Amino acid sequence: MPTNLPCPLEAPAVSTNAELFERAQRAIPGGVNSPVRAFKAVGGTPRFIARAQGPYMWDAEGKRYIDYIGSWGPMILGHGHPAVLDAVLKAAHDGFSFGAPTEREVELAEEIIRHVPSIEQVRLVSSGTEAAMSAIRLARGATGRSKLIKFNGCYHGHADALLVKAGSGLATFGHPTSAGVPPEVVQHTLVLEYNDIAQLEEAFQTQGDEIACVMIEPIAGNMNFVRASVPFVKRLRELCDQYGALLVFDEVMTGFRVALGSAQSLYAQALPGFQPDISVFGKVIGGGMPLAAFGSSRKVMQQLAPLGPVYQAGTLSGNPVATACGLATLREIAKPGFYESLSARTQALVQGLDAAAASAGLPFCTDSQGGMFGFFFGKDLPQNYPAVLATDQARFNRFFHAMLDQGVYFAPALYEAGFVSAAHSDEDIAATVAAAAAALRQE
Ligand code: PLP
Repeated sequence: MPTNLPCPLEAPAVSTNAELFERAQRAIPGGVNSPVRAFKAVGGTPRFIARAQGPYMWDAEGKRYIDYIGSWGPMILGHGHPAVLDAVLKAAHDGFSFGAPTEREVELAEEIIRHVPSIEQVRLVSSGTEAAMSAIRLARGATGRSKLIKFNGCYHGHADALLVKAGSGLATFGHPTSAGVPPEVVQHTLVLEYNDIAQLEEAFQTQGDEIACVMIEPIAGNMNFVRASVPFVKRLRELCDQYGALLVFDEVMTGFRVALGSAQSLYAQALPGFQPDISVFGKVIGGGMPLAAFGSSRKVMQQLAPLGPVYQAGTLSGNPVATACGLATLREIAKPGFYESLSARTQALVQGLDAAAASAGLPFCTDSQGGMFGFFFGKDLPQNYPAVLATDQARFNRFFHAMLDQGVYFAPALYEAGFVSAAHSDEDIAATVAAAAAALRQE
């Protein structure tokens, strides 16, 4: 049989989202590789994404969505930005991974340091979880102390010591929030309420000399969008200084997302000279590839192996393709006017949502910073996690599905932030607001 005859083209088999989800659940626990993707909070069938470009994603059935998740934060330039794609393809041609140092790692570290004055040295890792976990080990090693404070509703990845909820009182340390975490592992983790200065003061008064670090999301994107108040951050800084604890800003979500200098630059505007001691980054600095980092002063960072006694390592750390992606992303977002235009677009979105809710007569509030936003079905902006959970979850879920049906993909859970990219056009925002107005009129 001649081999040069064209093959009859078979129509590509199209699987529905439901079929894929069923198949996925047979091979993967819950059908997903990260729990929130399963739509458990909002119900329904997760969309299986086939491809994405600019501000859009298409699911397996060919339906298009305006994407306000952006891979949970990294895609600040939108999907498939030409300069980023080009850098990734070039890097991939040169080799996927060497397990030896490269110039590009140095360039990426220098780029982060250039934009974030609190950082003199940075170590690259592969996930936010790894970065947050390593930052805590570093803080403990540098201070010689064991205890750490975190806040209810803040997420710092799934390292054992951080999967913890508050104990019954300030004197008691937390309880694990996951099976498989022995209580002894979280016995040094104290969980306090976000934005509660009195609780913070009491915790330091009772055990300040034993506290290695306080870890906080400065704008908490894991409770939708809740800002740490300026007086709270001010007191946090004072107490850490007074008791010799290190202040760790987890900027995995806010880093290079809310401002080029990250959330810490916003607090430094309100509190001149303000800096955290250790910063944790992820998401945007990898541009969609597995890359994260933690950084601090040279003095603190020199505690790390191979210089110091705090061990930390990674086979794929500083991966050449991931660093190419991150570096190309950071170079794009550092261009003049980038954040002004991103903020204006994000504000247009939240103002449009506000107006749509107001004309439907619904209690609703929003907040945003740079390319990150949140919205709540409630009258006032929540200041902590219990207040987030007290907003109208049933209405949020209905709204989520009404938007998804109209091709707008918001985060599938009440306690997740949203993200606008530089690729979202005025038309995308207008279409989103029109869809929201239609959805909210039905409420
Ligand atoms: N810290 C914060 C603030 C996060 O939002 C996340 C993930 O969403 C993490 C840490 C963990 O990052 P990763 O999912 O890359 O492990």
